[in-house]
Amino acid sequence: MRIKLILAAGKEEALKGKNPFKPLSLTLLAGAVPEHDYELIDMLRTPEIDYNAEVDLVGISFRRSSEKTAFLVADNFREKGIPVVLGGPQASANPFGALEHAGAVVIGEGEKLWVQLLDDFENSGLKDFYVSAPKKFMAEEYSIFQLPELPTLKDIPIPKRELFSRKYDFELVFAARGCAINCDFCSVTRLFGSRYRFRLIQDVVEEVAGFKGYYYLIDDTVFGRVNTYNYYLELYGKIAQLKRKNYWIGQANLDAASHEKGREVIQKAVKSGFIYAAIGMESINKKVLQKSGSYSKMGVGKSEDMLQKMKENIRFIQQQGILISAWFAIGYEDDNLKTYYDTLDFCLEMNMLPAFTPVQAMPGTDLYDRLEAEGKLQDPDKNITNVPHHSMTNQQVVEAMEYVQRKGYSLPVILHRTWFYFKILVRKKDQTVHDVIHKTIFAFVTQWRFGKIMKQETDILKRKTQENAS
Ligand code: SF4
Repeated sequence: MRIKLILAAGKEEALKGKNPFKPLSLTLLAGAVPEHDYELIDMLRTPEIDYNAEVDLVGISFRRSSEKTAFLVADNFREKGIPVVLGGPQASANPFGALEHAGAVVIGEGEKLWVQLLDDFENSGLKDFYVSAPKKFMAEEYSIFQLPELPTLKDIPIPKRELFSRKYDFELVFAARGCAINCDFCSVTRLFGSRYRFRLIQDVVEEVAGFKGYYYLIDDTVFGRVNTYNYYLELYGKIAQLKRKNYWIGQANLDAASHEKGREVIQKAVKSGFIYAAIGMESINKKVLQKSGSYSKMGVGKSEDMLQKMKENIRFIQQQGILISAWFAIGYEDDNLKTYYDTLDFCLEMNMLPAFTPVQAMPGTDLYDRLEAEGKLQDPDKNITNVPHHSMTNQQVVEAMEYVQRKGYSLPVILHRTWFYFKILVRKKDQTVHDVIHKTIFAFVTQWRFGKIMKQETDILKRKTQENAS
């Protein structure tokens, strides 16, 4: 069977034309049922789709920002009589909307579902929904296949990465799924469960051993949590022993830095090549953190001075030579315009790359459900976010974002942060000259690129605000 798998991307995506990450999910699907003839398309790199190609089935994965494009592409194929299946984070968040444009919708992690879906397609016909989720998916009048429980990751297929012939800066790999924290703006806990599930360590190590350059471990926190530290200690210990050591990056939480064993994990990660952490700090306001459910991942315990404790955790991570970008979602009830500027000062003081977004309520999250129940969701096409704010206007938020981008990524600030990391690396006794040079260049280039992406994202918000005002 000829199958085209597409990662959709809208016209206005900041990574358009320069996505550095080789998409993983499509290669995993191809690996799950490898006997078919697959073509994989990353629209961030290849925006044009050939609708005349001979193909038996099209699968499209999409995020919220690419929903319109995904539906358009799906409609175009269906007009030609080619069956379409939709999946990915936004299909999971908006399954009924997706079903209007597809013969079937995949909700949750797709590898095991793909096996069943292709079998149905070739034999009995597609069902409406294929579901992998911790809770039973209820939809009367629809045909549903749901896995009885979230799948084990011990037999996850080997991704067919070779189907992407283009070169990307980073390979993607994962070791675990699930998150116990359940921040109100995030759908990970609802989709992947609150219990952590792990791949076999040897399988992850073998995959990593095959990489020839940088890679990105996409686990939700690569530093683990109290009940997962042992797994990561063993994993990083084995990766550190590989003959070829590649540098790698990942997402992380702060709490490991406040725990003795968590600190060991961070240090072992560095020994295995870890150089950059994207940390979800979400807010510097205690009330916001408590209400959004993110407080526990800051590792501040019952500390009277929350910010001081956060700073200690940040410093510990930085002192290992790890570059940090700090991700904040601003726009909760307890935020105001000053929050943007205070949070930027916090990032500048702590030498972290500021990554700010106006808070969004994604379908499939607690925040969305709460605002919907309160009748408070606003039209995202007419505003920069669907979360209304009592005091900040769209225009003010755009101006604040522009200021953050300009100041947070000015050349003097980038050089200052690079110098800060260089000094740490030079002082660390276990760093080779190659490590110091490589990591310093990485720190500079990453900031430079990050600044450009932030500018593009801010420009998109600015254009939208101007168009809506005119
Ligand atoms: S934002 Fe991170 S910590 Fe919070 S629920 Fe999502 S994955 Fe878990």
